[in-house]
Amino acid sequence: MFIVIVVMKILYQFYISLNMLEMNQVILQSLGAAETVTGSKHLLKTPELTILIDCGLFQGIKSLREQNWFPLNISANEIDLIILTHAHLDHCGYIPLLVKKGFKGKIYMTKPTAALVQLILLDSAKLQEEDAERANKHHYSKHHPAKPLYTIEDAEACFKYFYVQDCDIFIRLSDHIHFRFKLCGHILGACSVELTCFEKVIIFSGDIGRPQSAILNPPDYFTSADYIVMESTYGDRLHPDTDPYDELADLINETIRRRGNILIPSFAVGRAQELIYMLNLLKQQGKIPLNLPIIMDSPMAAAATKISLQYADEYTKVSQREFQEISDHIIINQDYNNTIGFIKDKKSKIVIAASGMLTGGRVLEYLKHYVGDNKNTILMIGFQAEGTRGRALLNNTHEVKIHGQYYAVNAKVTEIQYLSAHADQAELLDWIKKFEPAPKSIFLVHGEPCAQESFRVKVQTALHLPVKIMKQNQDVLLFTCDYEIVSPTPVKSNH
Ligand SMILES: [Zn+2]
Repeated sequence: MFIVIVVMKILYQFYISLNMLEMNQVILQSLGAAETVTGSKHLLKTPELTILIDCGLFQGIKSLREQNWFPLNISANEIDLIILTHAHLDHCGYIPLLVKKGFKGKIYMTKPTAALVQLILLDSAKLQEEDAERANKHHYSKHHPAKPLYTIEDAEACFKYFYVQDCDIFIRLSDHIHFRFKLCGHILGACSVELTCFEKVIIFSGDIGRPQSAILNPPDYFTSADYIVMESTYGDRLHPDTDPYDELADLINETIRRRGNILIPSFAVGRAQELIYMLNLLKQQGKIPLNLPIIMDSPMAAAATKISLQYADEYTKVSQREFQEISDHIIINQDYNNTIGFIKDKKSKIVIAASGMLTGGRVLEYLKHYVGDNKNTILMIGFQAEGTRGRALLNNTHEVKIHGQYYAVNAKVTEIQYLSAHADQAELLDWIKKFEPAPKSIFLVHGEPCAQESFRVKVQTALHLPVKIMKQNQDVLLFTCDYEIVSPTPVKSNH
């Protein structure tokens, strides 16, 4: 009997110590943007808090979009807080759904990000409501009735959890966890996150911008980290070292000589503002005709430009006054009726419209009318994800399907990679080289498999660092805390 009790006690102690060990673990898990570029959601499970870095929607091919409807690998109410790197939909678009599912914590972000996220979520909800309505009207959904992922009301319900924070200031989240934002270029207000957790530093890169943006400052660098969770969108590519201004001017002038139009699909937030700045400069320098109409046909881009103007002095290298002057020189259209007028007008013009990957939005109206005519140019300036019309066009497809109809591709389709909002392979490597000493491990997220594999090999051979490509929903143990007893004392939300 005595022996049985002793054995039971030993087993119990062993069970407790195993549990303690597990409780003291810090685990990383990607719920999205693992071997793909959308759906960014990276979970950090710590003894004190469960933190979600970004909360984005899956976009692109159907199999990815369907994932937005699947349950998450964790209950929404088990997540204590969200830290948001930036306002692109693939980083913030899932927030209304998470709140609907029971998330009630703080959502930390910078001021411009908060303004842009509100705009983007309301637009996303509106598009989803319209899609569901159209599907019900034309009976093309297998769900009866078809429902939106979330509504405008759901989007509005999440704003009260927003908690704006300045860059470079440490924010305490619990006894042993704090973080700070650092600007990383890419788009207005976009940041990387430096999170210190039980004395170990984990960097979440967010989307890293290019050092030579026309309106944003170069990404701020970090010099010390234990672990890096890093994007790898262009992990296999080098942006050409050509002058983007000359390239843009040549392309525009060549199209005007053919009496064609230039259609530039663009993210409403980020690229659109950079582009109007550059086009305006080309006009001032006499490199493109001063009277060439530049139409920004996107209510979203117009609103985003206003937000850029508001935060210009603090968050960009272009002053408010300069931004205002540029905005005054372009035609900003909000009204869909005018779109038809612009299309009918045969004079050469530049049209900037969203969405940037031609997956939806007003740009499709122009594409329908412009893509079949070899006088026109379709100019891509941003990353085109797998399965999008943008990628198909860059891959020389002979026809595109828009709203159920096929259109022959005769227009010139081209790309200026230099204008990308994402760092290329060499710039990503430079970003890592700033860490002194080098980090223990790098975890790659936000990239398609080819780009990630190529970047993994490059980092391992050039920098001799261990690199792992994150798999969706797989736990990765970062470290186990030395602390014997960990008391979960999160800093409570004030809401
Ligand atoms: Zn982004």
